[in-house]
Amino acid sequence: MQTTVADHPLIAHKLTALRDSSTDTPTFRRLAYELTTLLGYEATRHIRVEPVQVVTPIGAADGVRLARPVPLLVPILRAGVGMLDGLANLLPRADIGFVGLVRDEETLVASTYATRLPSDLSGRDTFILDPMLATGGSMETAIKMLRYRNAATVTAICLVAAPEGLARLAGEFPDDTGVPVQVVTGCVDAGLNDKGYIVPGLGDAGDRLFGTI
Ligand code: URA
Repeated sequence: MQTTVADHPLIAHKLTALRDSSTDTPTFRRLAYELTTLLGYEATRHIRVEPVQVVTPIGAADGVRLARPVPLLVPILRAGVGMLDGLANLLPRADIGFVGLVRDEETLVASTYATRLPSDLSGRDTFILDPMLATGGSMETAIKMLRYRNAATVTAICLVAAPEGLARLAGEFPDDTGVPVQVVTGCVDAGLNDKGYIVPGLGDAGDRLFGTI
């Protein structure tokens, strides 16, 4: 598994504002959107393209276009929805699937309550969106769903990651086992507290995006 920590002053600036507990919901949503667009630039660095030629007003130009079949974006419900527009605007032709996972607050084990994914992902680049990579349980489940459906590549995009979650995914998805797995994150924090929250993190990303319901 390849891990990319997007080290950029603009990302650090926006992440700092995102973490701030005085940041209100509309601003939090906008920052999550902007950060996902910035991380999306890194996450799509190896997206498949095919050569094309176009004609400019002056002459022929060799170029590329995104290869078919189109990529699949998969926000993990519910917090991942706050990142969807940020990537969908970069990849407007991408299809969008959904995975609903909820974690038991006692055991921290994730269980699936919704799945809407194509049955065959052969040849497709796939991108999972979840702002917080904490224990890695939800992300592991989602990655396995995409690998099971034969995705060509799986890229997990998160805003904040914990070392525990990264270590779990690296153990589950070593480089030499089939489908390439990549994690792109805005930062790696110190670790998890006993409730499975990232420290210092930003609190509950779903609550901060959508309210406490
Ligand atoms: N989910 C969150 O929203 N925040 C964390 O810190 C960990 C998991």
